[in-house]
Amino acid sequence: MNLESIKAVQQLLSQPQKIVIVPHKNPDGDAVGSTLALYHYLINRGQEAVVVAPNDYPKFLKWMPGNENILNFEKQNSQAKEKIAEATVVFTLDFNHLGRIGQMQSVLEDLTVPFVMIDHHQAPSDYAEIMYSDVSMTSTCEMVYNFIEFLGDVDKITSEMADCLYTGIMTDTGSFKFRSTTGRTHRVVADLIDKGAENTQIHHRVYDTNTPGRLHLLGCALKNMVIIDKYRTAYITLSQEELDTYEYQKGDTEGFVNYGLTLEGIIFAVIFIENKEEGIIKISFRSIGEFSVNEFARAYFEGGGHDNAAGGKSDRSLKETALYFESLLENYQDQLQA
Ligand code: 5GP
Ligand code: MN
Repeated sequence: MNLESIKAVQQLLSQPQKIVIVPHKNPDGDAVGSTLALYHYLINRGQEAVVVAPNDYPKFLKWMPGNENILNFEKQNSQAKEKIAEATVVFTLDFNHLGRIGQMQSVLEDLTVPFVMIDHHQAPSDYAEIMYSDVSMTSTCEMVYNFIEFLGDVDKITSEMADCLYTGIMTDTGSFKFRSTTGRTHRVVADLIDKGAENTQIHHRVYDTNTPGRLHLLGCALKNMVIIDKYRTAYITLSQEELDTYEYQKGDTEGFVNYGLTLEGIIFAVIFIENKEEGIIKISFRSIGEFSVNEFARAYFEGGGHDNAAGGKSDRSLKETALYFESLLENYQDQLQA
């Protein structure tokens, strides 16, 4: 974050503000963790603040301190709209295009108040007056830690904030193993533990809350996996019918895509999940090494994200999407073939 932006934030926060903090749609651990940590920080500074999430998120994220105060734009629509209408500042966290917030997009686009973006995705759009955008960062949570440090307030990080920030760094780094993880990341995490983050508990709450249905769905996903050795690629499909059979609940497929990458030699893993209600196939892409799934998702599946983790969607049927996907691989022979 440059000095000018830090000064601009300091100027904003020197006055009492009504602040709305927004994560992306289908918020993940980093989105919920970063917005709640910032929420606690701003409240503790005496500001009025509220987190408005575009929609619901999985149960394994609902234990975080402050969770009960998050407004769900879909379920608490009039209350959420009221807060947005009163806002004097909007913070947007863990996304950089207003298209990532679903139905909230049109409501936020109409606002004339200053926006502050804190985000680590590629190619930010220009809706925010104040931008802290850094694609080298593991997570928005690590950036919120830095943000608080820029404002000279690291000593004001409470154990609640530490729990939230630890969660997002943990989930966005695959438990501290992805390429983006640095010595600095570990120093931040170490400091969060010193400040009271319950690291063992957090892993347990996020990762050890499977239902039998979810494990059976995982079994189904693994059985469906197609391995294309030639292009070092593995993909999974899950139909709506399969999801229904195993009583799919939001968040159940989180992390499934990564199993492809645990196969020796595989560098590109994908999962296609049918969503009959929205009439789309939701796609997650993961890679190891140089192959950019961000570019791949952008080029063919109306998506994006990071070099090694991205998402997108398709309007074709599940079967046609998989076939289309397979037909694209030869365009990338030079990168995918061993
Ligand atoms: P996931 O596969 O876990 O849903 O998302 C992986 C990464 O890609 C995340 O950083 C997420 O923000 C991004 N992402 C997921 N879906 C989309 C999408 O439809 N559009 C864009 N631009 N990014 C996405
Ligand atoms: Mn993130």
